[in-house]
Amino acid sequence: MKINITSFEQLKQSFKLTEAESSYSGGNNSLPISITSHYLSLIDENDPDDPLRKQVFPTSFEEVEENMEYIDPLAEVNHSITNRLVHRYKSRVAFLTTDICPMYCRHCFRRRFTGNMVGPATEKEIVEAAEYVKDHPEVTEILLTGGDLLTLSNKQLDFLIKTFRERSPKLIMRICTRMVITAPERIDDELLSILKKHSTAPFYLLTQVNHPRELCEKSIEAISKFIDMGIPALNQTVMLKGVNDDVDVQEELCNKLLFNRIKPYYVFQGDLVSGTAHLRVNLGDTIKIERELRKRVSGLAMPNFVSDLPQGGGKVPLSDCYVKEHVGNRWVLETLDGERREYPDTY
Ligand code: SF4
Repeated sequence: MKINITSFEQLKQSFKLTEAESSYSGGNNSLPISITSHYLSLIDENDPDDPLRKQVFPTSFEEVEENMEYIDPLAEVNHSITNRLVHRYKSRVAFLTTDICPMYCRHCFRRRFTGNMVGPATEKEIVEAAEYVKDHPEVTEILLTGGDLLTLSNKQLDFLIKTFRERSPKLIMRICTRMVITAPERIDDELLSILKKHSTAPFYLLTQVNHPRELCEKSIEAISKFIDMGIPALNQTVMLKGVNDDVDVQEELCNKLLFNRIKPYYVFQGDLVSGTAHLRVNLGDTIKIERELRKRVSGLAMPNFVSDLPQGGGKVPLSDCYVKEHVGNRWVLETLDGERREYPDTY
């Protein structure tokens, strides 16, 4: 399937670029520039601060590297078994199926790998990874990620899934893709029939929706195709400055996701990736948004706010502390409105 994309040169011709956008020159570790026609059609061309534009138009701010920024902030390389297989948590592995995406998000945390134009994993790399998983029965889940998994052809996907399934039939598979948002036309019947054919264990769809406007009619339809065949959908949002660092936006996003049967799963504090400081939200502001959002939405609509700590520290929850102290045989806890309540120990 051909996905229409727009290059930087075309952007320059059709959009009035801001100074920061037009002075972008690319540099070391720069991501390619590519925006799908579908995503471009969602951007308000008259608004230089459009929250969708901020995610995909490069700016010269990307060329500034701050202290404590890393090209591999989660230390994936240190936890890599091969250059495609990351084993950071005991029960799950991530397989980097390809470094290609139809559209490159300027906040991408995997810049060290994404967009190097190496392409999909070879059959040999897939078999090696599947053998490793088979030999490690403590691994119960695999994240099929990238890059974007769904840039693989259906034939390549069939081989990939079949290879893992033959060796580990009970392995839970996460289909990690942003293409339901960036190129929803990719979700065709053949893809769905491949998933159906290999359903000896559950699949989960993991999406990345960062703003309610990304969840348009076409994207909802694409995601619904997975849900209608029994594949649960979960969303991971990246907290981004000027995009969704606002509790009203987060509230609208969470409720819209839930209404469309997509569970708001995580909101990630921006990783310390080189060249992304301009998109990162202050940690204190994220915690304030989390607290206010918790007051506004149902438990079902409330995502876990987390930070994936630098140097492979793993994910930790980001939340105000509601357990204030332990006095005598009682715990003192704070309500969302800041009042205090006591809860006794049990003997
Ligand atoms: S789709 Fe995912 S892997 Fe690709 S650029 Fe965006 S965040 Fe990175």
